[in-house]
Amino acid sequence: MLRIPARVLAVILFLSAQAALAEGHGAQEGVAPDAALKMLRDGNQRYATSAVNPRHYRAERPKLTKGQKPYAIVLSCADSRVPPEIVFDESLGRLFVIRVAGNVAGPGEIASIEYAAEHVGARLLLVLGHASCGGVAAAMSPEDPTPNLAALLKEIRPAVDTARAKGVDKDHLAAEAVKENVRLQLKNVTERSELLKKMAAEGHVGTAGAVYDLASGKVEWLAP
Ligand SMILES: [Zn+2]
Repeated sequence: MLRIPARVLAVILFLSAQAALAEGHGAQEGVAPDAALKMLRDGNQRYATSAVNPRHYRAERPKLTKGQKPYAIVLSCADSRVPPEIVFDESLGRLFVIRVAGNVAGPGEIASIEYAAEHVGARLLLVLGHASCGGVAAAMSPEDPTPNLAALLKEIRPAVDTARAKGVDKDHLAAEAVKENVRLQLKNVTERSELLKKMAAEGHVGTAGAVYDLASGKVEWLAP
């Protein structure tokens, strides 16, 4: 049997621990924002090309009973065609997902993001919009069908105004408004949360914006 001297073994264990920390796995502070972004990119690539990982939910559930350690927070639209766990080929316990029509960052959504960043260690926030978003389309109309919808659309309308101010032609206005809405909600998250503003400034939490295409299944990553 191969015998490894204790001192050599200690060095090997130390280096393994360092490698794990560098990768962001097993580190107390969670997966680094850059690494988390790459995991989302790779997952969407698998989903869009039908090379998805097999899932074993029954085997996974017992491992998650003592806690959760999702590597990313996703604020996405409630649209039934855009489920983040599927779009990023992820499983239980991997993504902390908040869904609301138009992916707006109101108090409830921001409180959820704060919780995920401060207490469960997720270090990347992705705001995910999508093509043909009903919430954004409704915000392009001046009508407010109900008081509740009015409150929601009020959050999206500044993005529609920004898209219009860019002089985009009528056919592309909705798509541009979807992108601007992602940027607006990202801005709102940090402007409306001292905690997240601080965590972002310290580099502890990173942010990203993206738009999902219903037909191709691909996510277009937006420049900040
Ligand atoms: Zn939508």
